[in-house]
Amino acid sequence: MVQEETIEELISESAIRKRVAALGQEINAAYAGKEIVLVGVLTGAVLFLSDLIRCIHIPIELDFVATSSYGQATRSSGEVRLLKDVSHPIQGKHVLLVEDIVDTGLTLRYLLETFQARHPASIACCVLLDKPSRRVTDVPLKFRGFEIEDRFVVGYGLDYAGRFRNLPYIGALRK
Ligand code: 5GP
Repeated sequence: MVQEETIEELISESAIRKRVAALGQEINAAYAGKEIVLVGVLTGAVLFLSDLIRCIHIPIELDFVATSSYGQATRSSGEVRLLKDVSHPIQGKHVLLVEDIVDTGLTLRYLLETFQARHPASIACCVLLDKPSRRVTDVPLKFRGFEIEDRFVVGYGLDYAGRFRNLPYIGALRK
């Protein structure tokens, strides 16, 4: 079992707090005078989303999706399943997908295409972490917290085998 001592801190709690506040300001400015639906991707984005919405001062609605890929063999083909859909229609709404981390880009690509077909007024992505070295499909990231190297990260909502979501910082498993 991986102990917390084997985790190396990469992004501190205070650095996360500052960056999330700045992202909130960017969102306030980009959508001034509008209402947005923030769609959080369960489960990893929950901590990020809950801190982010407290930095957003325009009217918002909150919704959630859950996704799952079919596993390594089919990930490269872009096979992503929607395990939980949004609870309310998004047609005519400004939708902001909120994700913890973008890696290959397949999950966000799938969500963008799925929701685009429902004719929202606009759709964009907000991610806390971006691992660009692993990308296999291009995804537009309108709001992005941190770019990170290709390491498996945990904490602040992100898990390893179901653990570490409650760490207040983002860390990497020591190599
Ligand atoms: P993508 O479809 O962009 O390859 O994958 C996105 C999803 O993969 C994320 O929502 C997350 O669940 C998972 N993921 C990718 N990289 C990491 C990582 O470094 N740590 C953790 N905990 N999950 C990751």
